[in-house]
Amino acid sequence: MQAKEFQRRILQYYQQYGRKHLPWQQNKTHYRVWVSEVMLQQTQVTTVIPYYLSFMERFPDLAALATANQDDVLAQWTGLGYYSRARNLHKCAQQVHFELNGKWPSNVEALEQLPGIGRSTAGAIHSLVTGQPATILDGNVKRVLCRFYAIEGWPGKPKVHKALWELADKLTPAQQVDHYNQAMMDLGATLCTRSKPQCDACPVQSGCAAFAAGTQKNYPTSKPKTNKPERSAIFIVAQYKQQILLEKRPEQGIWGGLWSLPQAEMDTSDDALASCLGMPLPPVTIQSLPAFRHTFSHFHLHIHPRKLVLSKKPRGVMDSDRWQWQDRSQLDALGMPGPIIQLLKNMEPAT
Ligand code: SF4
Repeated sequence: MQAKEFQRRILQYYQQYGRKHLPWQQNKTHYRVWVSEVMLQQTQVTTVIPYYLSFMERFPDLAALATANQDDVLAQWTGLGYYSRARNLHKCAQQVHFELNGKWPSNVEALEQLPGIGRSTAGAIHSLVTGQPATILDGNVKRVLCRFYAIEGWPGKPKVHKALWELADKLTPAQQVDHYNQAMMDLGATLCTRSKPQCDACPVQSGCAAFAAGTQKNYPTSKPKTNKPERSAIFIVAQYKQQILLEKRPEQGIWGGLWSLPQAEMDTSDDALASCLGMPLPPVTIQSLPAFRHTFSHFHLHIHPRKLVLSKKPRGVMDSDRWQWQDRSQLDALGMPGPIIQLLKNMEPAT
């Protein structure tokens, strides 16, 4: 199928079935589309919508986000995962608001220089807001192209990645790019799905190599399997009445910038646990809570919670940028990792 025919069919599909009523498609601005595109990275539309609506209510414009503190931004992100997206979103807002005087770059290359905006996200923002030509290649579009052209090889491989960008560029029309890009994302998300592609409803079925061969499920080629390493750590639940001691994680690394439980090496003795908390503590009782496993993109972490019940709140100066006591009923007010919130919510109430 020629590129022109592919485009014609995709644009016709958009007219009939394209999604036109998503929250970020109303009152379209760089700010609104950018937030949606960052949220949609690795996350489905139905999951994103409630987060997007509440984020827009809390940070209705660029200035509101740029001048917010990071904790508030991370708190709005809690549950969406991949928290580096939220930290970059905040940094990007500050850069555009303070350094670019609130003016968004007017081309894809300059958009790509901003924190957290890759080539495909830049293309989506530019084309969806301005209607000007720009190519996108998100996970949905990759799946459609891999199947349509029966492209072998994991799309994360540089050679395959480059070939996909070339095909995406070749197929992207010069006119109505916003409609075309939206339709390609919709096609991948709703028809050309990972496990059950609905080829009978697909506008480009007659040219699809994977459909012709009945090999849709072979594409895209999966990432080569590697065994994720297993790690273990003690997480310290220091509790005084209904309050829990939280430590802010460093910006770099897992759950960067989120409030979490202080962590200790597995071989830390009970006597030494209190000294991990960076302050003198009064006597405590110590109890093990059930261990559980959490999987990150590159390793499994076995979390062994140890509860330290304090009889008195420790006195002494604490660095409030790093430590804070938080009431268990107020955990949602902070940016915290989902599994840690769950652990604390599941604990017996303090007596
Ligand atoms: S025919 Fe099927 S596999 Fe091919 S692009 Fe359409 S939905 Fe995907």
